[in-house]
Amino acid sequence: MVRRTFQHFLNPHLCFTVDYLQMKGANGTIFAIGDCTATVYAPTAQAANQQGAYLARCFHQMAKKDNLTADISRLETAYPNLTLSEEKQKWDEDVNLLKKKLGKVKVKPFQYSHQGSLAYIGSEKAIADLPFLNGNASLFF
Ligand SMILES: Cc1cc2nc3c(=O)[nH]c(=O)nc-3n(C[C@H](O)[C@H](O)[C@H](O)COP(=O)(O)OP(=O)(O)OC[C@H]3O[C@@H](n4cnc5c(N)ncnc54)[C@H](O)[C@@H]3O)c2cc1C
Repeated sequence: MVRRTFQHFLNPHLCFTVDYLQMKGANGTIFAIGDCTATVYAPTAQAANQQGAYLARCFHQMAKKDNLTADISRLETAYPNLTLSEEKQKWDEDVNLLKKKLGKVKVKPFQYSHQGSLAYIGSEKAIADLPFLNGNASLFF
């Protein structure tokens, strides 16, 4: 019973879409990042920070999309009132430009970039695991 109740939290793929950091079933209205999520990403500051920066970029793109869509629909409601052919030509150009801009607004999926780990192991010593070329390098100092 406990297992069934917490199934959503135990299986990250049931709870969140990892790609866009959105909660499943919430129709893109709820985002979750950092330690409060149950995803494939480790609960570290490094992941939380990258997810925060990603969401900020995401919201910026979404706002851009909303503004352009509103501008297009504003122009479309004005079209029937245009009488001069020059006005209509200008309208066409404006709408095409906005549609082109709208087409370029893309929300890319989140991509975690591991920058390495550092751990103090006592007696003024530490170990580090750092990305190096296409693999990893472990250091002890
Ligand atoms: C001892 C320890 C050592 C760690 N060392 C490392 C490390 O070396 N490297 C590393 O990458 N990560 C480390 N971590 C993990 C790292 O701290 C977390 O992964 C990171 O802080 C997660 O960020 P977050 O924004 O998701 O959550 P948090 O940093 O926990 O931020 C959540 C914030 O929400 C606030 N909050 C909670 N509930 C509410 C509420 N109801 N209303 C309003 N505000 C609320 C909290 O007060 C808090 O300020 C360590 C964690 C611990 C505990």
